[in-house]
Amino acid sequence: MIDTIYVEKKIKNLKKTKDICKLVRPRNLIVCENYREVFNVKNQNFKIQKQKPALILAKKYKSFLNIVPKNFTIGGDENFYFSHMLNCIYDCRYCFLQGMLRSANYVIFINYKDFLKSIEEKIISSNAKNIHFFSGYDCDSLALEPISKFGKYMLKNLKKYPNIILEFRTKSTQINFLLKKIPHPNVVIAFSISPNEIINIYENKTPKLLKRLNAIKKLQAAGWKIGLRFDPIIYCENFKQIYKNFFELIFNLIDKNRVHSMTIGSFRMPKNFYTKISNLYPEKVDFFMHLKKDEQRVFYKKEVEDEILLFCRKSIEKYVDSSKLFINR
Ligand code: SF4
Repeated sequence: MIDTIYVEKKIKNLKKTKDICKLVRPRNLIVCENYREVFNVKNQNFKIQKQKPALILAKKYKSFLNIVPKNFTIGGDENFYFSHMLNCIYDCRYCFLQGMLRSANYVIFINYKDFLKSIEEKIISSNAKNIHFFSGYDCDSLALEPISKFGKYMLKNLKKYPNIILEFRTKSTQINFLLKKIPHPNVVIAFSISPNEIINIYENKTPKLLKRLNAIKKLQAAGWKIGLRFDPIIYCENFKQIYKNFFELIFNLIDKNRVHSMTIGSFRMPKNFYTKISNLYPEKVDFFMHLKKDEQRVFYKKEVEDEILLFCRKSIEKYVDSSKLFINR
């Protein structure tokens, strides 16, 4: 799957680097000074690179944690997100990473202990009753777990902090390492899910809805806390019928009483990212109906966004307690 690994010279002899290289067994192993000299080169074609991305192993030096804006939380007193990776093995047409990053190559920052240190420092210095840490902003947090083993590392080291929630956000079904462990009460496995009608058009290479729901069922049966993330909700023809069937299927299949939290949010994106994606895939972006632009953002017209959020909120509340539902807007 991955033919080429670039490794920063200063980390090439570290155990983590060697472990990952042993698992991937690339045909080409190239040593570089700094990952940016490969990743940030101008005029790379994201679309072409996405067909065969290389993996870059690098060290991160700063900004391990970032603050989550209040309107994108699930009720924590303090909220931070972090990413041990850049980019993703999936290829969602609406993914903002295509607009934000110059390269489609994957980067794994292998100094996991520095992520852990930043999280632990935050826990120790904070007076908040509960702090939420969200993994997987610039990547899918579990899709490359068999290679990265980042989730396993974080679970092992953060289970001793009862006043935090650690969320792994994913569309993947890489859950075996979780099923082998006793569930941690402070960990939420949050699945991004969409109707198959949307997955088929926009979420290339991702597991289909039923596969994600089966992964959820297995995790629930094993006792793990599950989050459901309905974001972005895409407005489409037959929107109400498609999403009505979607919610009905989900809540009839999984244990709705044991859902930790849910979020809903309609599609929106910084304007410069959207422009870049429209140039990469003009044919697909046509499917985003009823969008509006201002100086900074692309988003649904207010009446459409209101309709989306109201319809989804009411549909979900038929099945699950509204106190578990958070609206991202
Ligand atoms: S799964 Fe998430 S990170 Fe990966 S391509 Fe899709 S939207 Fe982007």
